[in-house]
Amino acid sequence: MKLRPHHLLCIGFFEGKGYSPAFVQHMTSIIADLAQNAPPVTLTCACDAICAACPHSTGGICETADKVLRYDHAVLACCDLQEGATLPYPLLRERITEQILAKRLLPEICGDCSWSAVCRQYE
Ligand code: SF4
Repeated sequence: MKLRPHHLLCIGFFEGKGYSPAFVQHMTSIIADLAQNAPPVTLTCACDAICAACPHSTGGICETADKVLRYDHAVLACCDLQEGATLPYPLLRERITEQILAKRLLPEICGDCSWSAVCRQYE
C-alpha cells in the first residue's frame, strides 16, 4: 500500500471525520486493512491510497500540495525514513509513536492542519 508519511499520523487519530462521506468510508476501510492484514507500506510524498478518495485531490495532485509535502518531509526526517522505502506497517507505527508522539512534536509537524484540534485532544 502506498502512503504519504504524514498520513501515518492522520490514521492514528482518525475518529470517523473527514472531507466527505465517501472519503470517511474509504479511510475507514484502509485503516481496517492495515490493522487486519498489515500490508507492506511504501512511503510516497505524492497522492496515495488515502488521497484516492479525497475531494481535494485533482488529477492526482493535492490542492494543498505544498503544505502536505512539508508535513511529509517533517515526518520522514523525524522518523529517519526515506521516501520510496517499503516497510512493515507495525514498524512504521512504532517509529511514529517513539519519534513523534512520545516527543510531543505534533504541533511542530502539522500544527497548522485544519484537523489539528482532533489530534491534539488525544495528546
Ligand atoms: S487533503 Fe491532500 S494530502 Fe490530504 S487526503 Fe486530500 S489529497 Fe491527500
